[in-house]
Amino acid sequence: APQPAEKAGILDKAVAITKGEVILTEKDLEGPLWELEMALLESDVALPVAESIIDSVKKGLSGQRKRLLSSTGDLVEDALRDSLLGILSAHTLDFEEYVKAHEKPVTVVFTGVNGTGKTTTIAKLAELLKEKGYGVVIAAGDTFRAGAIEQLEKHADRLGVKLIKHQQGSDPAAVIYDAVAYARSNRKDVVLADTAGRLHTNVNLMEQLKKISRVIKPDLVIFVDEAIAGNDAVERARLFNDAVPISGSILTKADADSKGGAAISIAHITGKPILYLGIGQGYKDLKKFDPEWFVDRLLE
Ligand code: GDP
Repeated sequence: APQPAEKAGILDKAVAITKGEVILTEKDLEGPLWELEMALLESDVALPVAESIIDSVKKGLSGQRKRLLSSTGDLVEDALRDSLLGILSAHTLDFEEYVKAHEKPVTVVFTGVNGTGKTTTIAKLAELLKEKGYGVVIAAGDTFRAGAIEQLEKHADRLGVKLIKHQQGSDPAAVIYDAVAYARSNRKDVVLADTAGRLHTNVNLMEQLKKISRVIKPDLVIFVDEAIAGNDAVERARLFNDAVPISGSILTKADADSKGGAAISIAHITGKPILYLGIGQGYKDLKKFDPEWFVDRLLE
């Protein structure tokens, strides 16, 4: 099918030229768009996501007029920046504001696969909330993985935060339910609930997460994955978000040597904001996600 720029009539072209403008064709855009697609891929944005972003930038720009002297590359980069900011800011959710404004206890369930940093992230948020003066309860909802309960208990002890646990193999929905009940009767403000992250039995896992969601009706569901995850992160985000719709994501290990394009992929796939970046192993190593800062770093 003819593209908008090709369809521009002789009269349109004449008007443009008299105004000192040219009409952008897909051919003009090819080079700069290719470069930007490569830049996205090098930053670990997943291939299908990079393609879809580049496609929408192309559609938005072709047929547009530009000043004769302005550079097509700059124009394309500005359009890409807008598109990325649009993806990262489609919905906003400020976690701390949410906790402040919402009826207590606020229940937050964390999902994501093992090893990505879910436990550490729960501990970091417990520390952040404690600092702000909130009463925090942690629920040891990964009752599957050997050692998961002890690991969380170590964090809870170190932070001086109450942990609610059952035995390994017990029903995670029951553990989280008890944690919420404890928070209610002890006037605690926030329940942070861990969940299992075994992927090799993901059908069971997804059913378990759905049950937790039905029984607990959490206020927020936060998906945790790695900023360095690349293509894998897209599939995981889709899988978890399909099972239990997430409210937002936290990306860990953003201190590693990567531009963290997974943030773009995950925000694009889920349509939900990135809330924080994990930037180290310590309890304070959590940084509020700032879309502008992130896009600047990605495109620099
Ligand atoms: P889980 O299995 O998802 O609960 O993962 P853990 O919380 O046990 O984290 C796995 C490893 O990643 C641990 O060694 C953590 O210290 C480390 N980790 C977690 N978050 C970060 C982060 O933001 N940066 C770095 N460098 N390491 C992290």
